[in-house]
Amino acid sequence: MFNKNQRIIAFLLLIVLTVLLFPHKGYAQDIKSAPFQIDFIDVGQGDAALVKCDGHYMLIDGGSASKSSLIYSYLKSRSIKNIDVMVATHPDEDHIGGLSGALNYANVGLALCPVTQHSTKTFQSFVKYLGAQGRTITVPKAGQYFMLGSAVVYILGPTYISDEANNNSIVLRIVYGKASFLFTGDAETEEENAILNSGQAVQSTVLKVAHHGSDSSTGYQFLRAVAPKYAVISVGSENSYGHPTENTLSRLRDAGAQVLRTDLQGDIVCTTDGNYITFYVQRNANINTLANAGPGQNQDLSYLTPSGNSAPDNQAGIPDRYVSDAGNNQSAQSYSYVLNTNSHNFHRPECSSVNDMKEKNKQYFNGSREEAIALGYEPCKRCNP
Ligand SMILES: [Zn+2]
Ligand SMILES: [Zn+2]
Repeated sequence: MFNKNQRIIAFLLLIVLTVLLFPHKGYAQDIKSAPFQIDFIDVGQGDAALVKCDGHYMLIDGGSASKSSLIYSYLKSRSIKNIDVMVATHPDEDHIGGLSGALNYANVGLALCPVTQHSTKTFQSFVKYLGAQGRTITVPKAGQYFMLGSAVVYILGPTYISDEANNNSIVLRIVYGKASFLFTGDAETEEENAILNSGQAVQSTVLKVAHHGSDSSTGYQFLRAVAPKYAVISVGSENSYGHPTENTLSRLRDAGAQVLRTDLQGDIVCTTDGNYITFYVQRNANINTLANAGPGQNQDLSYLTPSGNSAPDNQAGIPDRYVSDAGNNQSAQSYSYVLNTNSHNFHRPECSSVNDMKEKNKQYFNGSREEAIALGYEPCKRCNP
């Protein structure tokens, strides 16, 4: 009745129809939207994390230059055209290379980096693309904080300038409700100890493990203070550095942290409503992420189902406690000025212009008038701050 070719065509049509009628449900569709989300983007050997809160975005590092197009399309596919804050934790290529991709797609409000000058080509192109948007680098100081939507972002480090670029990494802690997140760049024990000595609160629900799991970071003392419930390692598979090291993995195991790894699990997405935390991974939800930590017990990763079960987060940092422990004892509302990241004017909080300002251009700033001016902002002519 049908010849062989017709049968093949009919069979292929059947496959196409099946795929059309029953599309494969990827993990991206499974992610339930939450007011707060962090995407740890798999950039191989490097770091890149996109933080979203109440429609505001912060991009922390962008992976190496070879990942520029990945970062570009990651933002484009999600129509993220405005990034309120871009953080280049330190000038190493595996952190800032891909930021050029972001700068080619999205407008950036504030760009933070621990230095304004660095000899590498990668750094110069980062500065060039920023300049094309009329932006320059702002060097943040430990002790400052700003708002990303309703989340508070505290700058914990660097607390002093080290000779070692990794130890000048911007370290920041994000607090959203009872959940807190610590981003450490490539900070090593030297910077970890300096931050501990500064007396700032570090305790966090989720730790972005420093320096891709290198042995020179994530010391016992620091881990004890951070007490993370979850630890995310952004690292390339079979990288030449041997990251993450056996020692770091076993310290994380001793600390009782659930470890997630981009080399084994691809993109890792974390969402929270401020009370519960959910992780979604692109692949290998139930893999033993501590497999190369030497002989040890298997982890129970049953909470990590790709469809996203909420797991109660008993260890979450309580903001109240944080404020009293932190030495940052101003409440989040006691900001001194409101910066307009679009016009580059700054205002007193009660200025009538603040009400007219688009929410996405508002940056709540806790600092002096001089600091606001040093950041490139001009005093508003109406409220004369
Ligand atoms: Zn580095
Ligand atoms: Zn690095």
